[in-house]
Amino acid sequence: MPFDPILVQQIPGFLSIEEGEHLFRLGCVAAAIAPCLEIGSYCGRSTVCLGVACRDAGQVLIAVDHHRGSEEQQPGEEYFNPALVDPASGRVDTLRRFRETLARAGLEETVVPVVCRSELAARAWSGPLGLVFIDGGHAAQSVQADYDGWSPRLPPGGFLVFHDVYPNPADGGRAPYEAYRRAAASGRYAPHSVVGSLAVLRRV
Ligand code: MG
Repeated sequence: MPFDPILVQQIPGFLSIEEGEHLFRLGCVAAAIAPCLEIGSYCGRSTVCLGVACRDAGQVLIAVDHHRGSEEQQPGEEYFNPALVDPASGRVDTLRRFRETLARAGLEETVVPVVCRSELAARAWSGPLGLVFIDGGHAAQSVQADYDGWSPRLPPGGFLVFHDVYPNPADGGRAPYEAYRRAAASGRYAPHSVVGSLAVLRRV
């Protein structure tokens, strides 16, 4: 099945359709290398973009998210969505919505949900990855930990993808941009592409 912008648009999330389609195209290339990984699934918008690419290639997508919402998705914060609060616990819980997305998109045999913090998940998976998509917590420490924990798993040709990369401070937070810049300056990656706030490097 090709990329389905209508399905993607129906899933709550912060990825534009153009960004999603680009992720799908990267996933198609990366899935031939090794499993792909995303950090920060939320309700599954990016998961569907990468997951469809992985499914078509007979590959798996590892989707890491504690599903408690990131810093800016908590009550009183800018990206809080009251519809995503679990009434029983009173806490943000995106896991139910995420599972609905996987079922609806036909991805239950492709996506491996890993429900914990990214640093913990990194201790449990040591294999190579064709693509690492960093879109979890946007605090500087979180982005750096995601980069440190997962990027060493990329073999040559693997893609390192950051979301919410804003060169202009007026457009958004600095942490993803700064992590992206550090990775780009490391000598380990070649610049690949930029679509919206999606910035892509490729392991040399
Ligand atoms: Mg994002």
